[in-house]
Amino acid sequence: MTHDIAVIGAGVGGLAVATLLARAGHRVTVLERFAEPKPVGSGLMLQPTGLAALERLGLRAEIAALGARIDRLHGTTDRGATVMDLAYEDLAPDAHAVAVHRAALHGVLWRAFAASGARIETGRQVTAIDQRIDGVVLRDGAGAVVAEPDLVIDASGARSPFRALVEPRAPRTYTYGAVWAAVPDPGIAPGVLLQRYVAARHMLGWLPVGSAEAGGPPLAAVFWSIKPGEHAAWAAGFEAWREQVAALWPPIAPVLAALSGPEDFTPASYVQFTARRPWRGRLVLLGDAAHATSPQLGQGANNALLDAWALADALAARPEPEAAFALYARTRRRHVHFYQRAGALMTPFFQSDARALPVLRDLVFNRMKIVPWLHRQTLLTLAGLKTGLLTHRDAPWLAGQR
Ligand SMILES: Cc1cc2nc3c(=O)[nH]c(=O)nc-3n(C[C@H](O)[C@H](O)[C@H](O)COP(=O)(O)OP(=O)(O)OC[C@H]3O[C@@H](n4cnc5c(N)ncnc54)[C@H](O)[C@@H]3O)c2cc1C
Repeated sequence: MTHDIAVIGAGVGGLAVATLLARAGHRVTVLERFAEPKPVGSGLMLQPTGLAALERLGLRAEIAALGARIDRLHGTTDRGATVMDLAYEDLAPDAHAVAVHRAALHGVLWRAFAASGARIETGRQVTAIDQRIDGVVLRDGAGAVVAEPDLVIDASGARSPFRALVEPRAPRTYTYGAVWAAVPDPGIAPGVLLQRYVAARHMLGWLPVGSAEAGGPPLAAVFWSIKPGEHAAWAAGFEAWREQVAALWPPIAPVLAALSGPEDFTPASYVQFTARRPWRGRLVLLGDAAHATSPQLGQGANNALLDAWALADALAARPEPEAAFALYARTRRRHVHFYQRAGALMTPFFQSDARALPVLRDLVFNRMKIVPWLHRQTLLTLAGLKTGLLTHRDAPWLAGQR
């Protein structure tokens, strides 16, 4: 049985699920608010989970060729004390992540989407969803009907206006967000996600992300955590900030010196929301619309890809939408809830005004390595594998490594 399916949002999750469903024979239309679908947000880490989902889409090799292989996370305080030093190879010999520029991931997903037979309508900001007995009506801001599908997938991201139709709870806003920029990568920390912490008030992140397009120059993503309300003050004090950051990690000084100013950076803010049951009737939530958190654990895009995989498989196994949505929710529940809780728990240790938490972090986190079991659990969490989501078939290198 095939369906008419509307997907709201051409982000990571929307493009992935539309591609899988169109390939399965469904008639799929993506509705995207921007006139031209474009990548939203910074460079990101694809964990073994997200890479397995891209393998399912047949896109893993393409993304690996564009991105940068990441073997290690290394975080130190402003005084040079190691807080985290996590090598993926301690999990399994070839374990690693791949960091990508948003545009690279978007480009790879877009090409697969374009070849899948799914359609897209751009400049379509959906503002209302009416559920009826036999289907759904989607409208734009002028009240015009934009689609009348059998079922709707809300992949409109962390600020989804539709999740309230499924679960009427407001998301919680995090105190800290970030500014980030994509910069030329002179190769100063190959294979490493590098972080520098000043208590939990500031965090500098450096992530090599490879190229935005084939043959393009190598890039890195720079992050600096700040409160959204302090963005204007940060921009006004940009020169002092440049010096502060160069003192925190001297190798970055020439990279920052080449930037023109605060306009090279993009602000980001984060919310926390976890749907208890991510569907109602013929509307199902996917990706950040279903579960948004801070990017501290770097799992959001990975989870959107895993959602797409699970939802496509559920609709193949259960042709009736509500039965398929229930199966999708069951399949994803343990993993999503673990990472949502872990994200909310860990964020204040790295991005908050707390005084005691960063002290505890600096005392305890790196010492956890002494206990092999704890070290392994930390690595499994980082890699997205803590809930044992993947089977040996999905990721052969994981055989016997749980
Ligand atoms: C600074 C930062 C760093 C991050 N780092 C990582 C990382 O390292 N690893 C990781 O896995 N994740 C990371 N994330 C999280 C990741 O970006 C998100 O989890 C992921 O993009 C969610 O995908 P999505 O498809 O659900 O939503 P999005 O990618 O946000 O896409 C939503 C789409 O919906 C469209 N849309 C919205 N409203 C409407 C509407 N009403 N009508 C039509 N279209 C609409 C938008 O234009 C957009 O195209 C990071 C996020 C940030 C901000």
